[in-house]
Amino acid sequence: MDAQALQDEALAAVAAAETPAELDEARVRYLGRKSDLKLALRDVRDRESGMALNAARMAIEQAVEEKQDRLERAELDARLSSERVDVTLPAELIARAQGRPLRPRRRGSLHPSTQVRRDVEDIFLGLGYEVVDGREVETTRYNFDALGFPSWHPSRSPRASLYVGDDTVLRTETSPAQIHKMEAQKPPIYMVSIGRVYRRDTIDATHYPIFHQFEGLAIDKGLTMADLKGTLLYVMRALYGPERDVRFRTHYFPFTEPSMEPDVSCPICGGAGCRTCKFSGWLEMGGSGMVDPYLYEFVGWDPDEYTGFAFGMGIERTAQLRMGIPGIRPFWENDLRFLRQF
Ligand SMILES: [Zn+2]
Repeated sequence: MDAQALQDEALAAVAAAETPAELDEARVRYLGRKSDLKLALRDVRDRESGMALNAARMAIEQAVEEKQDRLERAELDARLSSERVDVTLPAELIARAQGRPLRPRRRGSLHPSTQVRRDVEDIFLGLGYEVVDGREVETTRYNFDALGFPSWHPSRSPRASLYVGDDTVLRTETSPAQIHKMEAQKPPIYMVSIGRVYRRDTIDATHYPIFHQFEGLAIDKGLTMADLKGTLLYVMRALYGPERDVRFRTHYFPFTEPSMEPDVSCPICGGAGCRTCKFSGWLEMGGSGMVDPYLYEFVGWDPDEYTGFAFGMGIERTAQLRMGIPGIRPFWENDLRFLRQF
């Protein structure tokens, strides 16, 4: 068989192949180890017929390659058009068209702490406050000294706080962010910082070594306790409903003078008395007070010129009350059965 006839026959077979399997069959028949072409090439004796056979081999190889490309592309096109899904169709219709049962996909949800954090941010942004991020690792200078903690204060003990180095600590409150802000900006300051804080607590129903706080600071000319109380009343009503009332009990905090613990009228019983409020009608909500003039001196301001107030509360405690979550541990256990309820 001469080279040209062999080539013509092979090219015709390649052209006729309609599937990858048929093409493969033609390739084996005309280019395989036992094909006429390969046997003829092995027996070749003169240069001229060798060149002719090689030219035929190259032509057939090229034809097979091109045909393979075309068949693969056609196969892909066919698969894409048959498997196309109209993503605007309701999932129910797609499932029915594909003959499979509809299994609704579970949607994720925000962690309760995140939900409350966002609500708190919204409330304060609405009041014109700036939301400021702080550092979770702080120097003792900002975490204790600047906030007026005396050297003997028990919070400074490594038994109460988590130290990273001799004078660095995992922040025990978000207040250091306020000092950084005061160093960077002159009044008026209206800010809230929200984030994780760390205490060396033993884990039980109400204690956990990590929790979230939100702390606010307002410094301006002429701010009084009435502004503090009005602000907290507004925030408590935004968080717990328009019927809420706020009262103050005197307390002591290192960086406020005077210091007050705010109570909110119990949102569960409306003040009549229930188990949550221990039948007092009031719930303790955290700490607050007028900024101690010491802080103004720390950042180099005139304490006669400015006044301000500060307050801090727990995010988890807020979520517990708003969502009826018992204890603090569920917030950190990442148990999906718990988290899916919100
Ligand atoms: Zn109550």
